[in-house]
Amino acid sequence: MSEMLSLKGLLEKVQAYKNDADLDMLRKSYHFSSEAHCSQKRNEGSPYIKHPLAVAYILADMKMDTASISAGLLHDTVEDTGTTTDDLKGIFGKDIAFIVKSLTKLSKVEFQTKKEAQAENFRKMLLAMSEDVRVILIKFADRLHNMRTLEFLPAAKQQRIASETLEIYAPLANRLGIGWLRLELEDLSFKYLMPELYDELAKKVAKRKEDQEGYIKEVIGIINAKLKEEGVPGRVTGRVKHFYGIYQKMQKQKIIFDEVHDVIGLRILTDTKANCYGILGLIHSLWTPIPGRFKDYIGVPKSNMYQSLHTTVIGPKGERVEFQIRTEEMHRIAEEGIASHWKYKEKGDLDEKNSKYISWLRDLVQVQKDVPDAMDFLEAVKGEVVPEVVYVFTPKGEIKEMPVGSTPVDFAYGVHTQVGHRCVGAKVNGKIVPLRYNLKNGDTIEIVTSQTHGPSRDWLKFVVTTRAKTRIRQWIKQEEKAQSVELGIKLLETELRRHNMSNALMKSEDILKVAKSLGLGTLEELFVSVGFGKISPHQVLNRLVPEKAVGDHEPVRTMKPLREHKGVSIKGIDDVLYHTAKCCYPIPGDNLVGFVTVGKGVTIHRRECPNIEKQVVEEARLIDVDWQPSGDFLANARVVVETVDKPGILANLSALISSVNININHLEATSTPDQRGLITFLIGVKDLAQLKMIIQKIRQMEGILRVTR
Ligand code: MN
Repeated sequence: MSEMLSLKGLLEKVQAYKNDADLDMLRKSYHFSSEAHCSQKRNEGSPYIKHPLAVAYILADMKMDTASISAGLLHDTVEDTGTTTDDLKGIFGKDIAFIVKSLTKLSKVEFQTKKEAQAENFRKMLLAMSEDVRVILIKFADRLHNMRTLEFLPAAKQQRIASETLEIYAPLANRLGIGWLRLELEDLSFKYLMPELYDELAKKVAKRKEDQEGYIKEVIGIINAKLKEEGVPGRVTGRVKHFYGIYQKMQKQKIIFDEVHDVIGLRILTDTKANCYGILGLIHSLWTPIPGRFKDYIGVPKSNMYQSLHTTVIGPKGERVEFQIRTEEMHRIAEEGIASHWKYKEKGDLDEKNSKYISWLRDLVQVQKDVPDAMDFLEAVKGEVVPEVVYVFTPKGEIKEMPVGSTPVDFAYGVHTQVGHRCVGAKVNGKIVPLRYNLKNGDTIEIVTSQTHGPSRDWLKFVVTTRAKTRIRQWIKQEEKAQSVELGIKLLETELRRHNMSNALMKSEDILKVAKSLGLGTLEELFVSVGFGKISPHQVLNRLVPEKAVGDHEPVRTMKPLREHKGVSIKGIDDVLYHTAKCCYPIPGDNLVGFVTVGKGVTIHRRECPNIEKQVVEEARLIDVDWQPSGDFLANARVVVETVDKPGILANLSALISSVNININHLEATSTPDQRGLITFLIGVKDLAQLKMIIQKIRQMEGILRVTR
């Protein structure tokens, strides 16, 4: 670790594995970077150039091409110094400029929150990575050096960087098959996130190693003798499970350290696949294997192309020993993964084998094209990089790999989007199962489809794959859009009618002009915007007929003279002049009180209305009210709905209210400073019972935080 870093050392390192390396390019990159960063210092006080140089060393350890190492030297120049991407392009070419640009964070001012900025930067990097994978390898080297020198940062920053590393970069390294990197990133993160636990485990592992040394030696001796006897080549080494791996195992199986049996295991490397199985046979003939612990990742490789045989046996002294058996080539792939592609090679596109590493990413980028939200993308990537999988079969016997927890719906979307959309049922191994069934290793799945069915919003509660989630959401969004168009038209027509204007205006050229003036391309977009509550019908009308000056924002509503509706009696006198109060929107069934206003008759309030409490000094003017409307009388009730701020919620709410045949007479949607939606409806209801019913229904909807009157 305390290797002295120098340009000379770097050049020697590179030349050792690539004798035709472009050393001039590396020298030029080093001097350029060193000059650009000359006034900067690292946190520990050393000249900044030490960091890019260390990153370049890591890339050289990975035996990367010279362009990657140059990019490693230059990776912070655009972000931290006056250098521009164009400068780099002119001097170092477009590949290096592209890599550095992709690693340069977007300026912070464009984002509301730090989280958002991080998500967007991450997305930008992954999109670039799907074009040139070296982007992520250089980011890995950068992150690894930052993790190795994390002690120099303030505690809060340590926590943030360590948890980001553990959540994103370590799983990503795993997904790309770079085994050594994943282990080092996990252990470094673990060390900073849970220092006490880390120290404790480190001590216990050291003790275990000491205790078992003799035993392990004995087992290795027995195996070596057996291999010799049978004439099978094999190299046996001891292997200590990494600390974070031990911690995870303890967590997952709810066990203590003493119960973790595979802290120390053995690894046998051999030459051919056949010999792997041969050695497995030898071991199983020497000692009894523990049922359920044998795994054949050679026959069925992991999604990151990891191949190996795993088995655990009861060893010579009755102690368990875990074995990993693989070829030297399989071992190299397990350690280097996608990075092995650049060994001894300059750029060149990924061959078929290596592009498998990122086919999931290209797939994800494809699926996510229509989902512009960076946070969603981040979540999707997190879901994809954890490669715990089950293997299942199509009815034709094709093997498919699905994330653990996948359901038949995930499987259906994996086959084809249309199969997903039309999925109505599933058979697993010939038996009908619920759609939320969790797929198990070896299941054969048959999807039942129907042309007349579409996906259900409920599916989002149990599907786990990004593909399924994204496709279902897209479908719902389209449905919502159609609903919003309808709702938008309705709201506009109502507004027109209220001002005694003809519906014909809706089809005129003028309304298209209004749409354009609001920055919307088409009439449909205008209707959607009104339906979603982004633009009020009122705003549209004001632009449509400015000369009419539709005026105040307040809906024309509720001050209806009493005579229109019979049914209010006050102290036995029927048919008095009344209004309902605009502050509390009373409805029949409420606990009511009347307030006598000179010349205007009685204003009806709800008893709990704060305005009434204020007027209590004039108690003499309060009278009891009994309100029993007859016939088809409807009172305006106000419903205030607080929601998570998500497009489409308004349309859903409106659809729900309409679905029980309640009219929406007015609505206003705003959002609160803390990003919540606030939607106020005035709806026509018969009485309190009906209002309670609809409020109950609204409360059950997804995304609703609070419903009040
Ligand atoms: Mn850096």
